[in-house]
Amino acid sequence: MVPPVANRGMGHGPVYATRVGQASVVLLNGVFGDPLLRVRLRDQRRSLLFDLGEATRLSGKAAHQISDVFISHAHIDHIAGFLRLLRLRIGVIHPCRIYGPPGLSANIKGLVDGILWDRVGLRGPVFEVSEIRGDTISTNRVQAGVGVVEPLGEKQIDDGIVLEEGLFAIRATMLDHKTPVIAYSFEQPETLNIRKEKLVELSLAPGKWLGDLKVKILRGEMDAMITPPGAKARTAKELADDLVLRAPGCKMVYATDLGDTPQNRERLISLANGADLLFLESVFTQADMARASATQHLTARACGQIAQAAKVKRLAPFHFSRRYENAPEQVMAEVREEFPTVMAGRDLP
Ligand SMILES: [Zn+2]
Repeated sequence: MVPPVANRGMGHGPVYATRVGQASVVLLNGVFGDPLLRVRLRDQRRSLLFDLGEATRLSGKAAHQISDVFISHAHIDHIAGFLRLLRLRIGVIHPCRIYGPPGLSANIKGLVDGILWDRVGLRGPVFEVSEIRGDTISTNRVQAGVGVVEPLGEKQIDDGIVLEEGLFAIRATMLDHKTPVIAYSFEQPETLNIRKEKLVELSLAPGKWLGDLKVKILRGEMDAMITPPGAKARTAKELADDLVLRAPGCKMVYATDLGDTPQNRERLISLANGADLLFLESVFTQADMARASATQHLTARACGQIAQAAKVKRLAPFHFSRRYENAPEQVMAEVREEFPTVMAGRDLP
């Protein structure tokens, strides 16, 4: 049994390990560490990251499975883990996509160019960096050892959607932190759960084919044939009827580093409206409000008020100032005064 957050002091604070629809999420460095939220898509061998702060907790296996990284902005505590990702991606052929505010390609290229790549030839890690600029998104290819940025084009963004796939979509909103900051919404259209007892009953081994099955169902391709390993091919519909429980879609929102301004509140409340889970920064207590406005961060009270106004189901406040390291319960208590449904979570040792 995990002790309630309010009874804990010191350390990194809660990591909020939980499930959101078809994904499991964990705030790898806890509420006091650099922002780094890992979202693992179940049965997909694939992970997404929201921000990329210090990343020593990222394993090589996890790094190979990261397809997309969503950066809020390039302040060091949000991007310092890139060098670890870069190192762990040596030998990985497929590109890793990185999204963020204008200027991100130069930030990534600068970090890549800080290394001597004379041994890598054309096998250096590849990044497709997309800069979100209001209604458009422009993408550049950055490859270790190549030395130049290759523009891949620009396209219009419809309704804030920067990435749309069968299993999920990512919507982005630009906020202000005296520099542009992007908040993201991870939206799953519908949740499909595999009935494990049925797999056993039908002697089917779990594997990547379950992910393929889910994609077919979500795309409505119910006549598509799927062959589980060691079994005969069946239609997606037949397998779905036997194995899949369908549940409504869900939404998780990630937002950090924003000033408490009417426009930021309005944009974020609109993005987070009705979210199942909101990760939102809660940097200072009310007593340190002057510091919050000088650095363009939210107080615990503002964090709770935004969650309340957006009518989210669960709130995971994070990015606490280290000045409260011995008293995270003080921050949590102020959030709860405005929004009671704050998540409890497993603490890092
Ligand atoms: Zn910042």
